[in-house]
Amino acid sequence: MLIIKNLCVDINKKNILKKINLHIKSGEIHAIMGPNGSGKSTLSYVLAGHNKYTVTKGNILYKKKELLYMQPEIRSREGIFVAFQHTIEIPGVTNYLFLFNALNSIRKYHNLKILDKLSFNKIIYQYLNMINKSPDFIHRFVNVGFSGGEKKINDVLQMLVLKPNLCVLDEIDSGLDMDVLKKVTQIINNFHKNNNTAFIIITHYRRILDYIKPDYVHILSHHTIVKTGGMQLVTLLEDHGYDNI
Ligand code: ADP
Ligand code: MG
Repeated sequence: MLIIKNLCVDINKKNILKKINLHIKSGEIHAIMGPNGSGKSTLSYVLAGHNKYTVTKGNILYKKKELLYMQPEIRSREGIFVAFQHTIEIPGVTNYLFLFNALNSIRKYHNLKILDKLSFNKIIYQYLNMINKSPDFIHRFVNVGFSGGEKKINDVLQMLVLKPNLCVLDEIDSGLDMDVLKKVTQIINNFHKNNNTAFIIITHYRRILDYIKPDYVHILSHHTIVKTGGMQLVTLLEDHGYDNI
């Protein structure tokens, strides 16, 4: 599904990612951990197509197509979804209209019938129920005034509605209380099982990985992937810290 080859990325002429290599098959779950400032969020922005980041070397193949040539909106319609570490607020646009239009533009791209509001309501209310939120949640402006946890839950709602093939979750666990984290990971696990979605889960904490069992764990440090393994790598990290690894 995704092949990242020798990827080097600059921001303002400063080298932030160096020779990143990553292969992800559909349905696989990859966790990325690493010290602050190592470039984890940069990788998620590059996958989303943020124009602040300059790819100086390497390439990314997504479903056998060159991702770097695709505009961000095409990436989204092709099934890439990124939940950013710092969620974006959109004053003036309701969550409802945002999701309604986002879903329909994806459907249009795939020559599927455009959903009217009645059919969309059936979908959205079912998901609202799943995330334990009242209708008020979708009639507010996107993320405006949401608590940290609610923003993360809203990311999960977007994922459910848009049904991506590759889902990048950048610190989705930050700001979630234990009960909500459990619930969110249950939803992600179910979604993964039913859709065979590939996941990149960026996190600092073991807990989310205990619930969503990753196939691979990568350590991104000093701007590159320095180690890849399974859950045992997380144990090693907890015992010895990044420096010793
Ligand atoms: P992580 O998510 O692993 O904590 P980031 O990808 O957010 O790290 O950041 C990687 C590095 O890029 C950091 O050192 C950060 O300061 C730097 N960086 C991010 N944005 C900019 C920018 N606009 N100008 C200069 N440096 C930046
Ligand atoms: Mg980050």
